[in-house]
Amino acid sequence: MKYINNWINGKEVKSNNGEYVEKYNPHTGMIMSYFANSTNIDVNQSVDIANSKFSEWKNFTPIKRGEYLNRLVELMRSNSNELANCFASETGKIMSDAVGELNGAIKLGEFFSGEGMRMYGKTMTSNIIGKQIFSIREPRGVAGLIVPANTPIANIAWKTFPALLCGNTVVLKSSEDAPEIALEFAKLTKLAGIPDGVFNVIHGIGKIAGEALVANVDISTISFTGSTEVGKTIASICSKRLARVSLELGGKNPFIVCEDADIDNAVHWALLSTFSNAGQRCAATSKIIVMNEIYDTFVQKLTEGAEKLVLGTHEGANLGPLISLRQQKNIKEVIEKSTKNGSRILCGGYIPKDQNLKGYYFLPTLIDNVNLTDEVYLKELFAPVATIHRVSNLNDGIKLANDTEYGLTSAIHTKDINKAMFFSNKIKAGVANINFGTFGSEPHMPFGGFGLSGNGTREPGVEAIDVYSEMKNVSILMNNQSF
Ligand code: NAD
Repeated sequence: MKYINNWINGKEVKSNNGEYVEKYNPHTGMIMSYFANSTNIDVNQSVDIANSKFSEWKNFTPIKRGEYLNRLVELMRSNSNELANCFASETGKIMSDAVGELNGAIKLGEFFSGEGMRMYGKTMTSNIIGKQIFSIREPRGVAGLIVPANTPIANIAWKTFPALLCGNTVVLKSSEDAPEIALEFAKLTKLAGIPDGVFNVIHGIGKIAGEALVANVDISTISFTGSTEVGKTIASICSKRLARVSLELGGKNPFIVCEDADIDNAVHWALLSTFSNAGQRCAATSKIIVMNEIYDTFVQKLTEGAEKLVLGTHEGANLGPLISLRQQKNIKEVIEKSTKNGSRILCGGYIPKDQNLKGYYFLPTLIDNVNLTDEVYLKELFAPVATIHRVSNLNDGIKLANDTEYGLTSAIHTKDINKAMFFSNKIKAGVANINFGTFGSEPHMPFGGFGLSGNGTREPGVEAIDVYSEMKNVSILMNNQSF
């Protein structure tokens, strides 16, 4: 059995209490490893180390830091099989999906390594004769990075590369559901030559280890990706000492199909958007809105497509299990409540009975006739489940799409550029996609949401540099004598 320890000051370290927590394999439902059950003692030690290494790392030029990160990218590439295998088994992903995710993380690393050569400030004019003004960027200190498990290597890379590039040192809190990949990544930072103590990993329970990290006064920046509920708790702790906080939170993402859409293309993208990664994506479609004229045809094709999807972790499967038993129970209950209130299950709706799927699987589920006060309509589901809604025009469709406290991603299918642009103007979301799915960003693009989907920051893209750096204005007043 594997024991997954913290990574502090360039080596594996047990938690001070010597305790471990079980990590279950989502595909089999069996224990696969044990991770360190860290407390505030371990967290504070790791922050102290990161703090003591800050001036050393800060004093490298951004270009030099980019060179270290580039070496890390090369190591991710040369160890891609081991890394992809590691988090595929922790999360129940199909290997080809894991490889795709890792490639995205590598691309992101390439992008930020190069940003060391472009860490621009700006020059400004002055109303005072002889005054020259320019701005420079400085690192903020120790960054606390807190990540979920749904796309673990992407989440780790997304935050670590810009945080380190800007000159911060890091303590990363791994997800309880994917601890090992964080440790494997940490080992590569050492092989890349990044000085010990610059990048540290703490495992443990969110409420204990995660909250201790957020509460540590030496953490100047918290970047959190996870649920809105936890995001609110973190924001309130950070607000007491005005620590900077970047929140990438949940979504309730709408997918509108107009009467003039290419129906087969819309079905293809609705299936991918709703069911890929078993719906465990902040950007997953969970509300499908279809115009009356094509409703029956579209829903029939979509349901047929969903029923053909193959569950499992083998190559050729379309979706794997949910990450935990808790998630599986939770979605089952939400659906039971909604059917009691009169909603109609079009396909799925229950835990598969197949003996080969003993883990935390849930069948791809589509539901219509949904009560708009039900949890299944209001809450983020994070499962392979979407509700379907019939509307008679685009205005009503957009109204329903915007009927949520979230605002992360959205999509519309139409051949009419006017409808597409009308939608992109009216939709309350950080991402508006036309004729494809509710997918997030590419590594060089900013990503984030409106409303309860975040607090307005954008990561990654060059916008992430604003999260992890301070701007300083430098002014020079020259005397006007001539030489
Ligand atoms: P979660 O909020 O339960 O946990 C996320 C991380 O926070 C974990 O590492 C956990 O240990 C830690 N944590 C939990 N409680 C904490 C506390 N009180 N203080 C500090 N840390 C704490 O989320 P999850 O269920 O692991 O992940 C799913 C959520 O993540 C969904 O809501 C999804 O939409 C969101 N997500 C958002 C994005 C985005 O970019 N917007 C991307 C991926 C996932």
